[in-house]
Amino acid sequence: MLSKLNDPQREAAKYIDGPLLVLAGAGSGKTRVITHKIVHLIDKCGYAPKNIAAITFTNKAAREMQERVGHLLEGKPSKGLTVTTFHSLGLQMLRTEAKLLGYKPQFSILDSSDSMKTLSDILATTDKQLLRRTQWKISQWKNAFVTPDTAAVTAEDELEVASAKIYQLYQQTLKAYQAVDFDDLIRLPVELFEQYPEALERWQRKLKYLLIDEYQDTNACQYRLVKMLTGIEGRFTAVGDDDQAIYAWRGADVENLRQLTQDFPRLKVIKLEQNYRSTVRILRAANSVIANNPKLFEKKLWSDLGVGDPIQIVPAKDEEHEAELVTMKLLAHKFEHRTRFADYAILYRGNHQSRVIEQQLRNQKIPYTVSGGTSFFDRAEIKDVIAYLRLIANEDDDPAFIRAATTPKRGIGNTTLERLGEFAAKDHISLFAAVFEPEFQHAVGAKQLEDLLTFCKFIQRMQQRAVKDPAGQVLTDLLGAIGYEAFLYDSEEPRAAETKWKNVLDFTGWLAKKGEEDEKDLLQLTQTVALMSMLEGREEAEPDAVKLSTLHASKGLEYGHVFLIGVEEGVLPHRESMDEQKVEEERRLMYVGITRAQKSLTITYCKKRKRAGDWESCEPSRFLEEMPPDDIRHSGKATVEADPAERKAQVANRIAQMKAMLGK
Ligand code: ATP
Ligand code: MG
Repeated sequence: MLSKLNDPQREAAKYIDGPLLVLAGAGSGKTRVITHKIVHLIDKCGYAPKNIAAITFTNKAAREMQERVGHLLEGKPSKGLTVTTFHSLGLQMLRTEAKLLGYKPQFSILDSSDSMKTLSDILATTDKQLLRRTQWKISQWKNAFVTPDTAAVTAEDELEVASAKIYQLYQQTLKAYQAVDFDDLIRLPVELFEQYPEALERWQRKLKYLLIDEYQDTNACQYRLVKMLTGIEGRFTAVGDDDQAIYAWRGADVENLRQLTQDFPRLKVIKLEQNYRSTVRILRAANSVIANNPKLFEKKLWSDLGVGDPIQIVPAKDEEHEAELVTMKLLAHKFEHRTRFADYAILYRGNHQSRVIEQQLRNQKIPYTVSGGTSFFDRAEIKDVIAYLRLIANEDDDPAFIRAATTPKRGIGNTTLERLGEFAAKDHISLFAAVFEPEFQHAVGAKQLEDLLTFCKFIQRMQQRAVKDPAGQVLTDLLGAIGYEAFLYDSEEPRAAETKWKNVLDFTGWLAKKGEEDEKDLLQLTQTVALMSMLEGREEAEPDAVKLSTLHASKGLEYGHVFLIGVEEGVLPHRESMDEQKVEEERRLMYVGITRAQKSLTITYCKKRKRAGDWESCEPSRFLEEMPPDDIRHSGKATVEADPAERKAQVANRIAQMKAMLGK
């Protein structure tokens, strides 16, 4: 089985005598080592699948790895094997150990906007910037494993003292909601294991070997979790590339790589040097760009996949023109090489950049999927349904209570809710519990009370069903009982209502199927969904489609042909990341982008771009100058000021011609 690995890869897969770090550049087979090593551990080293955990960066990567392993095991059972993200692993731990921390197993997971809303209540403000800053600060603290108490003690100025106080109130509020936020999914297990060594021992006994992909992007909290779980023996393999560290803004710390060598003196380091993904030219360009960053570790990377085509650099007049050029080049390339749409990826720095491209692809009826965006789960109709699910799973989830109780409208008005809120706050209980308090019941009108009680009793009935009936059935009945379809048609234009209802059915259908596949009830599914929505959005099942993705979300993946768009000063590097250290991270992002490409790479930039309604002229990114001149080809002059209407007509014409040819 290990014959499909090269020598150093095989050595890494076989080495189980102590902690191991595989440190290597992009496309050198780090992820492949993990997959093969899992199989080796099961097949040759006597590990039971249930004692192995592999940690990937995204749910999608986890799914792919699970599939690969299943394939390599050729039918041997892999049941119980954990392949998952840090956050899902944290969720699994918290779910099992919830009681120790004073949580119930069905605690809620707040998404970013709920947590913002909670902060807004605490601070009694709607100032978006202030809220976002506070949220960010709290997140930094959590990722660095700083408690509210420590934050208060170490605060350096008044602002920090105030933030620490808010942090504390925020935590208290979450606890009252029986809710955790995204960062808590890692922080709380660490806290748990520090307080309860017996819980740690349980998990150490369960997870006897740990494999971690994309190690360069772990934060302090995740690192602590790894260290605790793997114990002094350090039964783990971590693989990573310091040149691909792109999550510093989320608290990741590439220093963790260096820290490993200190914390585990017996750490063995294996380097891989052969790249199996990209042509020589693509690799040379990547190496040459990243050479402008200071080095943490010495690495070499070479490929024998042939020189390949030069990297094309294409200027465009503006974003729309860029979208036209990319679509046209893509179609021409597809025609010439007889490829599939799925062989192409269009990558960009920021989510918002996809809009113009999407429009153009839709115009040309080119199938595409977008990853990295969270759009699907952010839709109001999906959030409505999720609010019900969250409330059914955890009636103390106040944000979910408010949303569900008022959507669709059922006579529960703001005044009643405010009243209820006052009682709940006074007695330190949830809104749901307050409805059943005699004191509240006396204070509120008979009609209002009846509406509230009807709602709460309905939720209780659904709770009973959720634990015994299949998820699909419960969902259908839930939607019927709340009259959600009629509500949509009452409050929206027919076309919009139709789309939204379709989205809801799409979502519930998908959830029901997931429930069957994973043998989970609705309560467990609810937590999974909360996690997915935050991490990456849902994958759409389109077999042959062009992939649109942010650079961040493209990590670890590979595509035959890559278009990297908007490579300008101000976009990549981002205008807010111009100081030296931040430019280094932007450069790593560029490196990640270049190294996603297997056979061809086309880079585009705009000469002008609209910003806050005004046109601004743009400069090509400094990273383009860092690429080896012999490996790039500048094409097309965007300076010719063709009449826009004429240009549009020409483009339409060429596209029509190409599509006609493709259709043959
Ligand atoms: P990244 O840094 O981008 O995550 P990576 O180091 O994890 O990259 P992989 O994704 O594991 O690299 O491998 C890159 C490609 O090279 C994959 O298509 C993989 O199947 C292939 N590959 C890796 N090692 C070998 C090998 N020994 N023989 C053939 N193909 C290989
Ligand atoms: Mg990888």
